[in-house]
Amino acid sequence: MARGTHQVEIGGVTVGGGNPVVVQSMTNTDTADAAATAAQVSSLADAGSEIVRVTVNTRHAAAAVPELFERLADLGCAVPIVGDFHYNGHILLRDYPRAAALLDKYRINPGNVGTSRRDENFQAIVRIAMANGKAVRIGVNWGSLDQRLLTRMMNANACRPRPKEAGQVLRDCIVESATRSAELAEETGLGGDRIVLSAKVSGVRDLILVYRQLAPLTRHPLHLGLTEAGMGSKGIVATSVALAPLLLDGIGDTIRVSLTPRPGGDRAEEVRVAQQILQSLEIRSFEPQVTACPGCGRTTSTFFQEMTEDIQGHIRARMPEWRRRYPGVEELKVAVMGCVVNGPGESRHADLGISLPGNHEAPKAPVYVDGAHLRTLKGPAIVEEFKEILGEYVERRYGENGGRRSPPNGE
Ligand code: SF4
Repeated sequence: MARGTHQVEIGGVTVGGGNPVVVQSMTNTDTADAAATAAQVSSLADAGSEIVRVTVNTRHAAAAVPELFERLADLGCAVPIVGDFHYNGHILLRDYPRAAALLDKYRINPGNVGTSRRDENFQAIVRIAMANGKAVRIGVNWGSLDQRLLTRMMNANACRPRPKEAGQVLRDCIVESATRSAELAEETGLGGDRIVLSAKVSGVRDLILVYRQLAPLTRHPLHLGLTEAGMGSKGIVATSVALAPLLLDGIGDTIRVSLTPRPGGDRAEEVRVAQQILQSLEIRSFEPQVTACPGCGRTTSTFFQEMTEDIQGHIRARMPEWRRRYPGVEELKVAVMGCVVNGPGESRHADLGISLPGNHEAPKAPVYVDGAHLRTLKGPAIVEEFKEILGEYVERRYGENGGRRSPPNGE
């Protein structure tokens, strides 16, 4: 199954058409507070979000969009900004033409465009997008599904000789809402190269089933995300297992991880999780990967855990500079292993690996480079010496005179 074959340009980022899967995120600030929103957009972009969505729910929010863009320009942040509209998008985009002209894409939820003049409101947004040369994402969400369509489909199902189970009718309705809305947008005059579709649900199995049903029916790029994924490990695991089979099947052109942050937590966590999903699946590379064993009774001291954390932190801290100076470094694989049981083997599979001494083992740590034993480190400076070897390796392999360069994004 192929990804959406249309290519959609969103503020300089191309989505679909086999381009690398794009990482998106969304702010949780009040957009009317342009300063706070600009700061969060900038932080999400710094973490690697390639498109950022902001809520545009009130007149104050729409009026603040120009200031948001000015503040982002002052911060040197040029990430594409998507306006998220529900209920009153047709009014806000009409009444705030500067916002309509500045936003790089509009998200329309076809279940939330009004009750009586649904199609007219939807078409009004589409016409404003056409006038401004913008793309739209038609984002269906089962929490706000078009209830009239659902009722019609449920009634029709009840009249079938063998009715489908209710969950299947719900999924049919989500898919129908997305494809019908895309047809209506195209009939209104919007080019197929300006439409992205999404069909989000909060159940993992349902998400996989819905996108598998939708993907063969459309040529529009698909935005993937498990809506309302939840908090912490629950949200991360649920999103990962939902997105993985789809992405491996080539379904999904952009992704977002809808994590609920802890109070005061870092919103950019959702960006790092999205990147890690893509990197774990070997779809894109964002930063060097550190393979570490979990430790066991052979590593009763905390030295091994501290070393792994230290090396991981060292790599993360160096990445802004490394990314600039060493193209391809994001594909580097480093192994930090706790003892000789799997240490040497795992180290040989990595570009660079170290195997620490476990309990009752000789106090020495063999280092492997490109699969071969380089040297054995001993004494209290093992970590610092390993970091030096790492730095030299990065320079040699990815520096200007390096032997091997990797294409950007690993694709
Ligand atoms: S590599 Fe050694 S320390 Fe790590 S989990 Fe395996 S046996 Fe335990």
